[in-house]
Amino acid sequence: MDFKAYLRQHQDDLLADLASLIRIPSVEGPAENGAPYGAEVRRSLDQMLALCEKLGFPATDMDGRVGWCEYGEGEEMVAILGHLDVVPAGDGWTREPFGGQIENGRIYGRGTMDDKGPTVAALYALAALKDAGAPLSRRIRLLFGTNEETGCQDMKYYLEKGGEIPVMGFTPDGEYPIINGEKGIMNCSYSRKLRQNGAYHLRRIEGGTASNVSPAFAFAELSCPPEAADRIHVDKVTATPIQGGIRVEAQGVSAHGSTPEQGENAIGRLAQALLQLPLTEGDVKETLTFLAERIGMETRGEHLGLAMRDELSGDLTVNLGVIRGGEDEVSVTLSVRYPVTRTFDEAAPPLRAAFAEAGFTETEMRHKAAIYMPPESELIAKLSRVYEAETGDKAVLKSIGGGTYAKSIPNLVAFGPIFPGDEVREHKPDEYMEVERLLQNAEIIASAMFELAK
Ligand SMILES: [Zn+2]
Repeated sequence: MDFKAYLRQHQDDLLADLASLIRIPSVEGPAENGAPYGAEVRRSLDQMLALCEKLGFPATDMDGRVGWCEYGEGEEMVAILGHLDVVPAGDGWTREPFGGQIENGRIYGRGTMDDKGPTVAALYALAALKDAGAPLSRRIRLLFGTNEETGCQDMKYYLEKGGEIPVMGFTPDGEYPIINGEKGIMNCSYSRKLRQNGAYHLRRIEGGTASNVSPAFAFAELSCPPEAADRIHVDKVTATPIQGGIRVEAQGVSAHGSTPEQGENAIGRLAQALLQLPLTEGDVKETLTFLAERIGMETRGEHLGLAMRDELSGDLTVNLGVIRGGEDEVSVTLSVRYPVTRTFDEAAPPLRAAFAEAGFTETEMRHKAAIYMPPESELIAKLSRVYEAETGDKAVLKSIGGGTYAKSIPNLVAFGPIFPGDEVREHKPDEYMEVERLLQNAEIIASAMFELAK
């Protein structure tokens, strides 16, 4: 079936509706009554649901966290998941970030690409199916999330509240062709009490900003003879005498937590440098020895006993992202990403055992299971065919270390909206979407939803 004519005819409506959403600065704000992610996010959801109704699709609101509309009939349901929340505008814009201005074949504004543009494209794609009277044997549900950028609590709520789980579907919140594999992610924290006695007394240790960023800087301050500074000789580490002790600073190289091998870990480097001090046997020495020797600068978890890989997605990666500590306690936060064909039950036990053995207690474990949809599965086979028919390009499947919105509910993969080779502009100033790319997305989404649901 051909949905192009309808979409081209309704291009102006699509753009106007998208602009109406762009003009709502739906950045997470303080929770209010009926607006768990803030008033503006609530407004964007209301606006989206109003657009659904306008196009003839009855809309549902689940407590201001998730909304949806549906079309078609059948026992089974296919989902297309988009989100209406956005990251803050930030600096550097030459256009109005919440304006929806159209210029030179582009529509500008925060959310045009991520993810209001593709979400409105999906709504018009559904309208095109309806207009064509496309025969469907599965229902199609457009799901509108509102908390993708700040924790995906929206879809967690949906699942907890018994929201229907699709038999298959996709989220246009990644890239084309198809991301059919995403590593499993364990974001976890461990802490350990310190009892100190001895000539070297740890006052403070700090480094890093988040579990998913390789730390570029870390430092420690110790009470000790100030001349101990001379004992430290490690590249990219400086030790200087301070009042009653020394301060040791380590530099690293920042990288995304899904690719820690592209960075250099300042915390691991700091721990290695501190071991050059003649520390007294005890908690501090044991802790630093563990951090330096079992993690250190390694990014594949070799000495944690975690090393594993698969052909599709490569090595398990470990990013020691944050350390915070004082005189009595130290805590660390890590992001461990295991290969797409492996499981939590394979990756978590050795990690937990290593930390437990070193006297640490687990204080947090946030797990998102790996996604892997084989090329021969119905979902991937159909999306591949649609992509190839629509673009003339080969649908090369990708596995990634990062996590997309697809992880937030079962049976989805990321499909679109960015085409291979196009500039990445989500989360950046002057975020935009070419009008032509928007329409192309709508056409691909229409064909894909039809193939999955017919
Ligand atoms: Zn997004």
